[in-house]
Amino acid sequence: MSRFDFDLFVIGAGSGGVRAARTAAGLGKKVAVAEGRFLGGTCVNIGCVPKKLFSYGSHFHEEFEQAAGFGWSVGAQSFDWPTLRDNKTKEIERLNGIYHNLLVNSGVELVEGYASVKGANEVEVDGKTYTTEYILIATGAKPFTPEFPGSEHTVSSDEVFYLEEFPKRTLVLGGGYIAVEFAGIFQGLGAESHLVYRGELPLRGFDEEVRQFACDEIRKKGVNFHLEVNIQQVEKQDSGLLVTLTDGSQLEVDLVLCATGRVPNIDGLGLETVGVETGRGGAIQVSEGFQTSVPSIYALGDVINRMQLTPVALAEAMVLVNNLFQPELPTKTMDYSNIPTAVFCHPNIATVGLTEEQAREQFDQVAIYSASFRPLKHTLSGSEERHLMKLVVDATSDKVVGAHMVGQDAGEVMQGIGVAIKAGATKAMFDSTIGIHPTGAEEFVTMRTVTRN
Ligand code: NDP
Repeated sequence: MSRFDFDLFVIGAGSGGVRAARTAAGLGKKVAVAEGRFLGGTCVNIGCVPKKLFSYGSHFHEEFEQAAGFGWSVGAQSFDWPTLRDNKTKEIERLNGIYHNLLVNSGVELVEGYASVKGANEVEVDGKTYTTEYILIATGAKPFTPEFPGSEHTVSSDEVFYLEEFPKRTLVLGGGYIAVEFAGIFQGLGAESHLVYRGELPLRGFDEEVRQFACDEIRKKGVNFHLEVNIQQVEKQDSGLLVTLTDGSQLEVDLVLCATGRVPNIDGLGLETVGVETGRGGAIQVSEGFQTSVPSIYALGDVINRMQLTPVALAEAMVLVNNLFQPELPTKTMDYSNIPTAVFCHPNIATVGLTEEQAREQFDQVAIYSASFRPLKHTLSGSEERHLMKLVVDATSDKVVGAHMVGQDAGEVMQGIGVAIKAGATKAMFDSTIGIHPTGAEEFVTMRTVTRN
């Protein structure tokens, strides 16, 4: 008989927390999850899922335009924001219900409310104390908004999914995933779309050729880039928001979205009381096995700020549960290499492995295979959209160490390429794979000529 109420008390019912809780409960452990907001966390409620639904919604206008080249005449079109917003919300509520059932049916006790850590083995929710052998902090991250005069007139990705009215003129601040995705969504849904970024080119950290190519395509679709500037101030006026940029130029818009990064969500957790150490930006410091400076307390997902991606949090949760509750199995560690990722801008970007720049630092000889082309569909659609496929090869071993794509459904294509790269496929193996014709994806197995060494 355990001297604790629970074997595992999870704080936060987002992707990582729910996965850890359900898996541990499935192994017969006594598990509780405390959640004060919504089940499913950022991804389900105000992140990946509703964003993807909006992204789908925003593609229709160009589909209507392109249909003419295929003989279709599409009548008058109009977009109704409340329909998209409310249908999305209904779907999210359905998913919340599924998450609830998944937890409860797997035997997890759901504690509604915000939890704080009271001791190495004690958690408090709404004045009630629970004892537990292990605590898992999986509280995610929250938007960071820089301070400038008028920043209170801006919104973050927390609010953008629930806007009362669809803005006719939008400005997104930032050059990361959320910024380029929402600049495309706003443009696709019919708004005048501006993206303001302090650097030379958005998507820092991505392959340089991919960044340049993607930004050219995004610009072609109608997003207005304002680069190497920042917001100086935002003034609320009767006709909208007057935004002054640091180069003195001004723009009047109806909505300013700050997509300027997300910071670990540690407020009110009481980490200082028990001595859980945090690092830069509040990220909880953990060992390879996700253990904090207090041995019975663990943390994973966005709150440790390694890679803020849902599938990464899920994988971290599986590693943790394996190591805590399955001592008969070998100890696992999380492999952060070759994690495929996609940016759902228009067209999509997807990538796995090393960028050309990273490969050049790591290997003596690098061969780059890169092809850009007009997809078959657009020979009739009238669209000027072009796609880019790129393989980065360690020329000494012939291993493909990076793959990149800008184009329709890039994420769907890259998932399979990710398996090949994880398995250590060589360029010769890519070459010996028969293409699926006619697709854009076949380019990955038909690029024969080195673009540059
Ligand atoms: P990112 O960290 O990706 O980007 C933040 C951007 O804001 C950067 O361009 C940064 O500029 C800029 N920025 C930061 N501080 C300031 C400032 N004070 N003034 C002006 N600009 C600033 O964060 P996001 O908010 O876009 O997304 C958070 C995370 O969520 C992502 O990193 C990603 O892991 C995850 N995500 C994943 C998605 C997916 O998988 N498709 C979709 C959405 C989010 P600089 O480059 O100069 O630092």
